[in-house]
Amino acid sequence: MPQYNPPLRDMQFVLHELLHAVDELKLLPAHAEIDEDTINAVLEEGGKFASEVLTPINLSGDQEGCTLDKTTHEVKAPKGFKEAYAQYVEGGWPALSCDPEYGGQGLPVLVNQFMYEMMNSANQAWTMYPGLSHGAYEALHAHGTPEQKSTYLPKLTSGVWTGTMCLTEPHCGTDLGLLRSKAEPQADGSYKITGQKIFISAGEHDLAENIIHLVLARLPDAPQGSKGISLFVVPKFNVKADGSLGERNPVYCGGLEHKMGIHGNATAQIVLDGAVGTLVGQPHKGLQAMFVMMNAARLGVGNQSLGLTEVAYQNAVVYAKDRIQMRALSGPKSPDKPADPIIVHPDVRKMLLTARAFAEGGRALSAYTALQLDKALSSDDADERKACEDEVALLTPIIKAFISDNAWIATSHCMQVYGGHGYIHEWGMEQFVRDSRINMTYEGTNTVQSLDLLGRKILGNNGATLKKFGKKIAEFVEEEGTSEAMQEFINPLADIGDKVTKLTTEIGMKAFQNPDEVGAAAVDYLRVVGHLCFAYMWARMAKLALEKKDGGDPFYTAKLATARFYFAKLLPETASLIRTARAGLNPLMEMDEALF
Ligand SMILES: Cc1cc2nc3c(=O)[nH]c(=O)nc-3n(C[C@H](O)[C@H](O)[C@H](O)COP(=O)(O)OP(=O)(O)OC[C@H]3O[C@@H](n4cnc5c(N)ncnc54)[C@H](O)[C@@H]3O)c2cc1C
Repeated sequence: MPQYNPPLRDMQFVLHELLHAVDELKLLPAHAEIDEDTINAVLEEGGKFASEVLTPINLSGDQEGCTLDKTTHEVKAPKGFKEAYAQYVEGGWPALSCDPEYGGQGLPVLVNQFMYEMMNSANQAWTMYPGLSHGAYEALHAHGTPEQKSTYLPKLTSGVWTGTMCLTEPHCGTDLGLLRSKAEPQADGSYKITGQKIFISAGEHDLAENIIHLVLARLPDAPQGSKGISLFVVPKFNVKADGSLGERNPVYCGGLEHKMGIHGNATAQIVLDGAVGTLVGQPHKGLQAMFVMMNAARLGVGNQSLGLTEVAYQNAVVYAKDRIQMRALSGPKSPDKPADPIIVHPDVRKMLLTARAFAEGGRALSAYTALQLDKALSSDDADERKACEDEVALLTPIIKAFISDNAWIATSHCMQVYGGHGYIHEWGMEQFVRDSRINMTYEGTNTVQSLDLLGRKILGNNGATLKKFGKKIAEFVEEEGTSEAMQEFINPLADIGDKVTKLTTEIGMKAFQNPDEVGAAAVDYLRVVGHLCFAYMWARMAKLALEKKDGGDPFYTAKLATARFYFAKLLPETASLIRTARAGLNPLMEMDEALF
């Protein structure tokens, strides 16, 4: 069974050395009292919860899956999930970064980000139950009425109730403008909602006493398309005026999906049969309100992917040091043994280092983004809030898609390190591959993320936000440009920065002639910009490692070697991506549809 050791040292490096997070957070009124020891202590405890409570039920949860009782419509999560959730609630973990007004602990998003990384490493399927709840909390916190907030937020904060996100219907996933669920206004101001939702994560389960569904539906007078969608909060059990549970609302689980991975999470078909709900935000503006939850979920998917990359890497390293096969080409490295451990073989190292560079780069970028999110939420300077909001909006599709694509590559490499054993269930490696695959698809496929990045976030504002982000990189290049030791990192960083600028302009020009050019280039383009972000993070980490490596701490020696590996072996992928992005639309559209 796979093991998991929370990477606390690397988290502390990112927090305290790379980002100087405490100094930055202290400037925000909401976090003026934060200190390094508190953050470290929370993460240490959180790591214990992840590795001691969640890891042991990951493989078994995958094997057992969830079960639906078709008569009662109740769903049971795998053995141990309910008890682990009770422990999670008991420990106050759901409240970590929630608003103190509703019982939260008010810690930064950044701390929650690391907590979730560890839980995702330990057990992605389990972590989706609280993860979806936290997204529902955020949407209601941003858009709920005072009554909705006082009814739902304290219970979502404590974790006594969980939440879901009900968007997808059988005929509509990406294109939510097609959705058909209906909301009929009632005399008392509530709505009766009827329709069918599919693929609803954590849609029904036995972990919590109530489930709060956030449901997209159409009002009777709704305009066609995405401008006619409203958001409703629909509890599994109606809530009485005194906050206690009332009668069962007709919102049922009609079936569970049999899926490739994340078996421990109930992916539910949800039937709404005149279920009572209340409107969240303005009529027909539900999609905007839901975007709060969707953006949180997109960052969450990046974090799921980071978690899986890390845990797959950790286990593959242990295996590669233990498994002996063949001799090193340059001669025996363990002459006392009948063969060398496979970690001596260059290609095994390449697979391990790929996963490691993706994990550490992903951690740095995700933490950087979470810190910008804290500033966007809590700065008392409106300009800073806006600038950080824009940067988070730019980075969100990159985190979602680049880190999940990387996780698919990394978990697959780590499985390969195990040879045939990686393909066998008991080792747990094939589960990481299967679990990671969904991250590229849900919460808007990675194609959709790339269209959002290139079409909306970059070309949509003439590259203004990208330029601002690019300016930060250019400043770093300028500062470090004269350091000889940094040349191996600064030169390729500056080069990829220039290439992104040129590529963006070129696609922008082509898109004037034919908007389909955006669709032809977007996926490759996102990966190139993802590498720009990683190269920026890795160059900054390399600078610290160069400064500190002579102090004798092997952590910095390893960091520097991984940075070198990233620049030498992974970043060059951008050359071919730029070529394919530039190859444009014609090779894709030349063939008539009938010839497929
Ligand atoms: C395990 C699981 C859990 C999920 N959890 C939830 C949940 O909790 N709540 C929820 O509401 N939904 C959930 N989903 C649904 C998920 O978000 C959708 O499956 C996803 O958004 C894609 O929608 P779709 O499956 O209908 O695919 P489609 O929209 O039919 O897309 C099919 C293909 O066409 C591509 N495509 C579509 N439009 C374009 C375009 N304009 N340009 C280029 N390519 C395009 C897509 O990228 C995709 O490759 C979940 C799904 C799964 C499998």
